[in-house]
Amino acid sequence: MKNKFELFKWSLCCLFTLWGTISLHAAGKDTTFVATTNPIVKYKYLGDPAAMVHDGTLYIYAGHDEAPAPQQFYLMNEWCILSTKDLKHFTEHAYTLKATDFKWAKGDAWASQVIERNGKFYWYVTVEHATVPGKSIGVAVADSPVGPFRDARGSALITNDMTTAYTSIAWDDIDPTVFIDDDGQAYLFWGNTQCYYAKLKENMIELDGPIMPIPLPRYTEAPWIHKHGDWYYLSFASEFPEKTCYAMSRSINGPWEYKGILNELAGNSNTNHQAIIDFQGRSYFIYHNGAINPDGCGFRRSICIDRLEYNPDGTIKRIQMTTEGVVK
Ligand code: CA
Repeated sequence: MKNKFELFKWSLCCLFTLWGTISLHAAGKDTTFVATTNPIVKYKYLGDPAAMVHDGTLYIYAGHDEAPAPQQFYLMNEWCILSTKDLKHFTEHAYTLKATDFKWAKGDAWASQVIERNGKFYWYVTVEHATVPGKSIGVAVADSPVGPFRDARGSALITNDMTTAYTSIAWDDIDPTVFIDDDGQAYLFWGNTQCYYAKLKENMIELDGPIMPIPLPRYTEAPWIHKHGDWYYLSFASEFPEKTCYAMSRSINGPWEYKGILNELAGNSNTNHQAIIDFQGRSYFIYHNGAINPDGCGFRRSICIDRLEYNPDGTIKRIQMTTEGVVK
């Protein structure tokens, strides 16, 4: 009898604990803060920023670096969303997308990017696949830039075994960047060691043609595609530890002309991941460094925003990283 009573008490306790966890999650509140210097977020670690401008708001999507010091490898379970209308007053939204929100994924919320099409928001992410060894790319969809997002396919868009012709590593299918050209054709670029690209169908969740390799000197990972004027730009993390380099082309299909270093090693971080966007009439370079990391490594990173400027011939001036940031 006593055992039954203990079991009842234990069950009740579990029920309340579960209820408490769900309530806390559901009742999660947005966090607002003012950022007047770099890094912009100082109360947690965020890396691999991607950015999107929609309806006058800048959104930043970033992986949450959760590895406790002195752990020397990534612990990343979720992606976080920041927004701002003036680059000074920020909101971190309560909603987070988790790697395990993709039922076919094992974990590892690595680099990602969000894009809007026809009123829906598509979040392309890197995760570790549960059954196909290696990293893979999934896509989630939402009706709002701040979610909630749901797995758009129920399966990976790219798996490691789809690109074995070019490298034998298990982490070459990472770091998606997505772009919709002026004619409406969407493209997915991605890759570590080898940069790949493929067309996407208008539904944004299926490939629309073969996967093609892009020859790029000094390429490591973190491609970012953008267009400015008549030029296409393919920027990327180069060598290791990583600087940011870039290439230019008159066509999204290349050929890409290597243009050299865009940004130096970012303090105390062995990786980098850039987003390049225009916002309120200026261009910005959004990246991460290890500025508030208590020990030297690349696993507790912080997001920074600095100006990006073009030369009259379309080339990009080398980035000047600052601690002051972009807000006067
Ligand atoms: Ca592969």
